[in-house]
Amino acid sequence: MKRPRVRFAPSPTGFLHVGGARTALFNWLYAKKFDGDFLLRIEDTDRARSTDESTRAIFEGLEWLGLTWDEEVVYQGANVERHYADAHRLLDSGAAYRDFTPPSETERLRNEAEARGESYRFDRDTAMLSEAEIADKLARHEPYAIRFKVPDGYTEWPDLVHERIAFPNKDIEDFIILRSDGTPVYNMAVVSDDIAMGITLVMRGDDHISNTPKQILLYRALGADVPQFGHVPMIHGADGKKLSKRHGATAVGDYQHLGFLPQAMLNFLALLGWSPGDDIEVMQLPELIERFNVHGLHAKAAIFDTKKLEWMN
Ligand code: GLU
Repeated sequence: MKRPRVRFAPSPTGFLHVGGARTALFNWLYAKKFDGDFLLRIEDTDRARSTDESTRAIFEGLEWLGLTWDEEVVYQGANVERHYADAHRLLDSGAAYRDFTPPSETERLRNEAEARGESYRFDRDTAMLSEAEIADKLARHEPYAIRFKVPDGYTEWPDLVHERIAFPNKDIEDFIILRSDGTPVYNMAVVSDDIAMGITLVMRGDDHISNTPKQILLYRALGADVPQFGHVPMIHGADGKKLSKRHGATAVGDYQHLGFLPQAMLNFLALLGWSPGDDIEVMQLPELIERFNVHGLHAKAAIFDTKKLEWMN
């Protein structure tokens, strides 16, 4: 087995959420168990929403839990030139094309279709221009986005949590990888960074499932090895709704300041969406590492029950 390299890749747009900490913990346990590396990447490309305060809260939360990372922290914003170069590589190889349509026009067509109750689909045939038309627009410095040309067929992967997941490519519209202002979109940045960091397994929340087929298509078009994927379930409150402030504290820092012990928090987080296969509920870190396996990860939403955390404390 290739030495595993996993990562936790939070966006520093708020405190460290218990859901994020749980994703970090699963990745960390996986790395410890299989003698791999656990890397931290701060996804700060959204300059308007990213704050240093959030980045500090992420570091503090992970450190309090003892989920220390190997190697230096990677800041996604520092890699924008590589994201840009990778998008252009796809353009040069013919896997992507220039889209000169003004974003406002695409938006208008999308709104009109939706008002008619139809779902809008970007029309590649109208957008792809002849060499001469492109040369003309480039000479006039017209801005363009780069769109990925989604091939025909199916995109599927053996998900570590959900078994096999398959998407028909016809349901995936040709998506933008580089905006007309030259900034990369999330999927481009993530794939470019995961390749550069040598990531072998991407384990993250299942709210990212719809991004994964796009990312797999990008790996293939870039000629890179596709990593394994595992999508862990969302965390819900006792009422079955997505965990939010209504359910009580959702920041790891809040539990720290309330006097909870990191070991109790780790134990509690580990059992949100994973079970060791028997009824054991109280486990210290070495036991969690020993027992952790991806077969114990659940596909169904996990229920956040702070009474259990209080009990573990
Ligand atoms: N930055 C993304 C998030 O916080 C994570 C992306 C990923 O893990 O691929 O949701």
